Amino acid sequence: MELIYKKEDIYSKLDDDKLEKVDTFSNEYIDFLNTAKTEYICVEKFTKMLDANGFIDINKKEELKEGDRVYFINKEKALFVAVIGKEDLIKGVNIIGAHIDSPRLDLKPMPMYENKDICLLKTQFYGGIKKYQWMSIPLAMYGVIYNEKGEKIKISIGDDNDDPCFTIADLLPHLAKDQMKANANEFIDPEKMSILFGSIKDKEAKDNKVKTNVLKILNKKYGIKEIDFARSEISFVPAFKAKYVGIDSSFIGGYGQDDRVCSYSTIRAMIDIVNEEKEINKTMVAMVVDKEEIGSIGNTSMNTEAFDMFINKIIEKRGATSVDKLELYYNSQMLSADVSTGVDPVFEEVSDVQNGNMLGCGIAVEKYTGSGGKYNASDANAKYVSQVMSIFDKNKVMYQFGTLGKIGKGGGGTIAYILANKGVDVIDCGTPVLAMHSPFEITSKFDVYMTYLAYKTFFKA
Ligand code: MN
Ligand code: MN
Repeated sequence: MELIYKKEDIYSKLDDDKLEKVDTFSNEYIDFLNTAKTEYICVEKFTKMLDANGFIDINKKEELKEGDRVYFINKEKALFVAVIGKEDLIKGVNIIGAHIDSPRLDLKPMPMYENKDICLLKTQFYGGIKKYQWMSIPLAMYGVIYNEKGEKIKISIGDDNDDPCFTIADLLPHLAKDQMKANANEFIDPEKMSILFGSIKDKEAKDNKVKTNVLKILNKKYGIKEIDFARSEISFVPAFKAKYVGIDSSFIGGYGQDDRVCSYSTIRAMIDIVNEEKEINKTMVAMVVDKEEIGSIGNTSMNTEAFDMFINKIIEKRGATSVDKLELYYNSQMLSADVSTGVDPVFEEVSDVQNGNMLGCGIAVEKYTGSGGKYNASDANAKYVSQVMSIFDKNKVMYQFGTLGKIGKGGGGTIAYILANKGVDVIDCGTPVLAMHSPFEITSKFDVYMTYLAYKTFFKA
């Protein structure tokens, strides 16, 4: 009997067959990262994947029976999915929830201006970023515009090889004497984070010559006018590709891994289960939601009652109207599928290493989040932790226990508390990440695969 707990790395434990699966899954995940850089596109991609595997819109179903696969798209930016199980709904469902929004630069409602014969776009950052990391890197422009006729226009410029890209030009070091005196929080003024957008002058215009030319280009391409920016959601995100990192290709680097690594793994787990299993016992519910990075506020966030509406539809269409939704929640179990931080050897002083997540050692189980005296923490109870551990142990899922960092160094939260407040047993469980919220986040490909395995195992429990 081994009395002392020892953390082990995944690579040493997996046989060749499993290691091949790690690479296959990682390649597919990298492809996904490269094509799904906004929550709008994530919803489109996931819906396509679901459609191809027999899932349909819940509103197209009159009644639900065992094995049925349904989803609900919440205002284009969040998605709830379910596979109906054999067991009574009152006994609870297995839920995995992740988020698909990532930190980025949004356009202000009236973004365009011209100064010194250069056309620029004003941005407002979304989520928690270190602003200097977003200066002087190639950026791509993504989003939607609803024009005056209410037609949806999709924008995507910067990731195709033939596309131009965009950037915010930072100040040269030669002239940055004053800038460098300010602390890191202040030396990039968010009001100066303007996108370089163009410099060719319209020959006929009397003033605003560059702006006029830029608007002519946009009008030709998309049929839009300046006022249409007000009815748009346009974001600037890193224009470079996700790639393997390291001489041994053990890491995956890319934008938006918080939390597309968990959302992709969640949807993949559900799809692979329905294709592999003949019978589903407990109803499985997956959700990928928006607005986590700004506090889970609003009608596409986890806090929306649209989720309750989805559960109501399942209860009704299942012909189980006697089922009390509150009791269903009370008997349900959930993994809050969000990334955690890995211990960074360069900055280990911010981590309690013994309670930190090592890259390559498995999915990170975070008993509680929050900060300081567990303030704002969603804290899983011991019984539930034990249940999740035994599910993982039985299926050889490699996991580790970590906290976000040393007490008092900061903190963070996820969507866990929202379902916990409804009575669901919830624990945070996701991939460890280095350089989280940077334009190029780092994961271990072994942890990514283990995340997928963990979710698959949990759904089936
Ligand atoms: Mn997250
Ligand atoms: Mn985050």
